[in-house]
Amino acid sequence: MRLGIISALAEEQQGLIDAMPDATRLTHGMREYTSGTLWHTDAVAVLSRIGKVAAAMTAATLVEKFGVTHIIFTGVAGSADFGVRVGDVVVAESLVQHDMDASPLFPRFEVPLTGLSQLPTDRELSRQLANAARRFLENEPGGAKLHCGLIGSGDQFINDGVRLAALKDALPELLAVEMEGAAVAQVCFELNVPFAVIRTISDNANEDAATDFMHFVKTVASRYAFGILRNFCHG
Ligand code: SAH
Repeated sequence: MRLGIISALAEEQQGLIDAMPDATRLTHGMREYTSGTLWHTDAVAVLSRIGKVAAAMTAATLVEKFGVTHIIFTGVAGSADFGVRVGDVVVAESLVQHDMDASPLFPRFEVPLTGLSQLPTDRELSRQLANAARRFLENEPGGAKLHCGLIGSGDQFINDGVRLAALKDALPELLAVEMEGAAVAQVCFELNVPFAVIRTISDNANEDAATDFMHFVKTVASRYAFGILRNFCHG
């Protein structure tokens, strides 16, 4: 296995690179790819930058140029469900591009010519990642929960309760919203690369989202990503 690890923001990946004793860096297409051994796992870590195109470009480059065989996206997201609280962790079973709408040519949310509106993650990789997250959360105070289900991605930071409610109406199973996961999902589906997405909830995608988000990424996001990936790599 050669594992590609993508995050959108530096805060979501802080510390990982320091954990690679033999790190080598290569800059390509405005991104810095760091290859090395991460807790005995051959890995390449990179910041995608924000949004679906940025994430798609990064995922494709990881596969085509850096030869990764598996991809994990780790980052933060807004909650899209009352049962999913700030500090909880969501592992995607599938992802939807919630701003995709080529109707009436294709049903709303369907990625044209794939026949799919919900792109499934790799079951085994997601199971291992969920186990790693569960073990991490067991040792954290505060009673944060792990959820597995549908994550939505779109080129929008959602900080509007009305907009979130409309989205939830169209996609009742939606657990969280972010801006990259479903783009990575499409690339990995098309290139046949197993992938998984894990997100820590930073905000409630409502009017307070921007403030909550900023505070959360600074204080919690990197610690969670680091702890969960360490458990994952140690198996
Ligand atoms: N102002 C921020 C913008 C970050 S965008 C900055 O300057 O850094 C938010 C990032 O966190 C995206 O990468 C997205 O995947 C995730 N995210 C967290 N909460 C979100 C929300 N409510 N809606 C959409 N994306 C969210």
